Amino acid sequence: MKVAAKLEHINEQIVGACRTVNRKPDEIKVIAVTKYVSTERAVEAVEAGILNLGENRDEGLLKKWEVLGDKPNWHFIGTLQTRKVKNIIDKVEYIHSLDRFSLAEEINKRAVKPVKCLVQVNISEEESKHGLTPEEAIEFIKQLQPLENIRVEGLMTMAPFTDDENMLRNSFRGLRKLRDQIMELQLDYAPCTELSMGMSNDFAIAIEEGATMVRIGTALVGEDG
Ligand SMILES: *Cc1c(COP(=O)(O)O)cnc(C)c1O
Repeated sequence: MKVAAKLEHINEQIVGACRTVNRKPDEIKVIAVTKYVSTERAVEAVEAGILNLGENRDEGLLKKWEVLGDKPNWHFIGTLQTRKVKNIIDKVEYIHSLDRFSLAEEINKRAVKPVKCLVQVNISEEESKHGLTPEEAIEFIKQLQPLENIRVEGLMTMAPFTDDENMLRNSFRGLRKLRDQIMELQLDYAPCTELSMGMSNDFAIAIEEGATMVRIGTALVGEDG
């Protein structure tokens, strides 16, 4: 199926989820996650009107960057090795996976202007997941204060791998609660307004629970049927 057709379907679901909770669809940034697909497919997505692309590896991002440049806004959504920061720092609009101080220091050092970061939180505290626990995230964000090129725009999480709607909802709710707690600290370098949560299978629930960015791969750019 063409990306344009998939996008239309996704947009309908976004409008539906927004209607349920009285939100405006334009409050939600749709990030097309292109990590599994070809550069051609990423080009097709941009031509269909998608403004934001997400990649989880520097190789994938650089390869697609060669063709697309800064036409879309790039979001780095995967575990970021410190030594890879220099490869992507001048190409990405957001880094969704800030999860340790050494990474923040490297971003701070390489940046030419303040970098929009999201702190990755393991809200369900699953062993297998990357990210900080909620308690750690608060302490971590407080520690970032001296790093003048780090701006904490919000939080990111990957929900547990489950179909259990209540479990998903509780995770998203937990991230929102944490976001609100951090906003209350009123740190000038951490406005923390964004919530990056929701993927192909759960983005509608995430939007109902306050997502401002959804990261959709398979359902939006998947090359299957
Ligand atoms: C792959 C990936 C996504 C998109 O996953 P889909 O289930 O294909 O929508 C979203 N976020 C992150 C961090 C990812 O690695």
